Amino acid sequence: MVQAILLGSGATRPLPDRALAALWLQTAGRGLLFDCGEGTQVSAQRYGASLYKLDTLLLTHYHGDHLFGLPGLLQSMAALGRADPVTVAGPPGLDTILDAVLTLAGPLPFAIRRHTFAEGRGTLALCGGASITAFPALHRVPCCSYLYTLPRAGRFDPGKARALGIPVALWRTLQAGCPAGGFTPDQVLGPARRGLRILYATDTGPTEELCRQAGGVDLLCMDATYADDADAPKARLYGHATCAEAGTLAAQAGVRRLWLTHYSAAVTDPEPGLAAARARFPGAEAGFDGKALTLTFEDPGKDIP
Ligand SMILES: [Zn+2]
Ligand SMILES: [Zn+2]
Repeated sequence: MVQAILLGSGATRPLPDRALAALWLQTAGRGLLFDCGEGTQVSAQRYGASLYKLDTLLLTHYHGDHLFGLPGLLQSMAALGRADPVTVAGPPGLDTILDAVLTLAGPLPFAIRRHTFAEGRGTLALCGGASITAFPALHRVPCCSYLYTLPRAGRFDPGKARALGIPVALWRTLQAGCPAGGFTPDQVLGPARRGLRILYATDTGPTEELCRQAGGVDLLCMDATYADDADAPKARLYGHATCAEAGTLAAQAGVRRLWLTHYSAAVTDPEPGLAAARARFPGAEAGFDGKALTLTFEDPGKDIP
């Protein structure tokens, strides 16, 4: 199970009713934050994302609307008594940015683990077997799109376990994908089942790779800076997408859900953009601050009876 909360859905500057684009994912008590613009920590408190659980922060790029909340966020985490390390990952340039951020934030009682995605590409392992795949976005500066993957092991076969004489006390460990007592998971697990995948893609225009990576994802949270189709040339120029382009990409990729986000401050009414996206992908949803969703595995039945 993964809980997704859109902490903000705006671009460039925070508005009274629209914070800067950021997404929170939480699973098994660990939190993952995508971007941290000015005010993201306020949205986190408002919408129930516990910063105390923040494990990994992924910065798409280093424009201020995705970054300027970071010194304050780190200070607040220190004030909350954070002791465990926090991983901060991003495209090349991370060290320079973090040096500046840490100068502003001052000494922290917890360690920052840095992870740079060389050439905007790579994989980062997370707790619980989950992972992040980074790939380059189409923006004016180096920028990553991030695919979160939570895999799911095959179904546990108690009959096989009994036949092999595996003590019941070891079953859960084997089901979790770890060897135990000289036995291996493949002895008792069926084929891997469908897990969960969530793709966060802003700031970016549509690309072939984005379409490929988005193939069949459970949730695509995508740049929809411009509501009007006529703004497509402007979107190319500034490295963004229109709502219609987000809808087209979602349809081509066969995603399960599409959330539009990173609205320009000029978009005061999301309905026309939503209509344009729905004309291409009927399931499109307008992003808004606090929009939340709990994603669960397809067959939630108990594995071990
Ligand atoms: Zn932006
Ligand atoms: Zn940007």
